[in-house]
Amino acid sequence: MRVFKFGGASIKDAGAVRNVGRLLSGYRNQPLLVVASAMGKTTNTLEEICQLYFDGGDFSEPLNRLKSFHRNIIHELIPEGSHNYYEVENLFVELECILETSPEGKIYDRTYDQLVAFGELISTRILSEFLNLHDVPNRWLDARNFVVTSGHHRRARVDWETTESLIDRMVRRLLSRQIVLTQGFIGRSSENFTTTLGREGSDYTGAIFAYCLGADSLTIWKDVPGVLNADPKRVEHTVLLPRISFKEAIELAYYGASVIHPKTIQPLMRRNIPLYVRSFLNPEEDGTVVCDAAEGDLIGTPCYIFKDNQTLLSFATKDFSFIVEDHLRDLFDAFTRTGVQINLMQNTAISFSVCVNSDEQRIGNLLTLVADQFNVQRADAYQLLTVFNYNSEEDVDPLIRGRKIALEHKTGKTLQLLVESN
Ligand code: ASP
Ligand code: MG
Repeated sequence: MRVFKFGGASIKDAGAVRNVGRLLSGYRNQPLLVVASAMGKTTNTLEEICQLYFDGGDFSEPLNRLKSFHRNIIHELIPEGSHNYYEVENLFVELECILETSPEGKIYDRTYDQLVAFGELISTRILSEFLNLHDVPNRWLDARNFVVTSGHHRRARVDWETTESLIDRMVRRLLSRQIVLTQGFIGRSSENFTTTLGREGSDYTGAIFAYCLGADSLTIWKDVPGVLNADPKRVEHTVLLPRISFKEAIELAYYGASVIHPKTIQPLMRRNIPLYVRSFLNPEEDGTVVCDAAEGDLIGTPCYIFKDNQTLLSFATKDFSFIVEDHLRDLFDAFTRTGVQINLMQNTAISFSVCVNSDEQRIGNLLTLVADQFNVQRADAYQLLTVFNYNSEEDVDPLIRGRKIALEHKTGKTLQLLVESN
């Protein structure tokens, strides 16, 4: 029994969906669970709509764009009048109904989850219909009936016990008969609200199902040949890493290697389920396997990881006293409560500096929370560069090209630099 995950790029247009159909037709009679994301950049469009909705702006342009994008794909792939054709139209109506209500009094993060979930619900309806039409029989499932989470919206935590028991009881049985197709990224809280697992969370959904089903493997199908030592759009000479250990993958993901969602590895590691990262453009190639390899036999190669849109925050006490434990405790408490994730930190006697993702909403909440106690300096437009298996300055200089370094941190073989964006 295997789990496959297809991301937005693999189903970004009608041609891409056909390609996935061809790929899956090779697995027709095997127990296989398929997890899919929203098509192309749909989640970004939904985020745009959500923001405009809350700002009281006009969201008709992105909403129309979202609808025509999907309708064009549907038009090419599935007949008008088929079951899922109507299901998708119903989803559009449902989305519009929410947007017609007033945002007043609504909780931003909760509404965000409710809105962005439409991307996956729509994409899987289309994909399922297309596959059924092309002799890849499959059963569509609403992931929210299985992935049960906490009520931390936009970063929901999985309730493993409930989720495992539901998947084990209901999904395993279906897999003996046909391919099962479901959504990545979305879940449901115990209060019955739609939740999401964090941006790019579909990989994690793949791992959740693989774990709960005790799958033989999870395969993430991507538009790159596997895990590379850097993003080829940013670094000239990249190499494919054919085998990496779970532990190394966790580190790479932690530093922001976008090829694997940070939370994906742990559940796989716990049940020793190998993860394959392969190219949907060249499905005959092996790609990368992340497995329980002996430590040290793997990456000697330096890996470069970039995180854009970083904000540098420096906190100083209002009375200029030293930053001591109780200040740090209050600060960390504020970070936890507002969901601001720290990517790098450094402290001196009178200041504590962190680099965080430039998320307006969360940073705003954080700064309000600490305003009484701390003076905060804020600077935006930074990039965080992490070099894993760092060898020498020569590797790094061409990537920085004279940009100003705001923070620098080295531990073992890992170097992190916060530099001005270029
Ligand atoms: N569609 C969601 C996102 O773009 C989840 C995913 O793609 O994994 O963040
Ligand atoms: Mg996506």
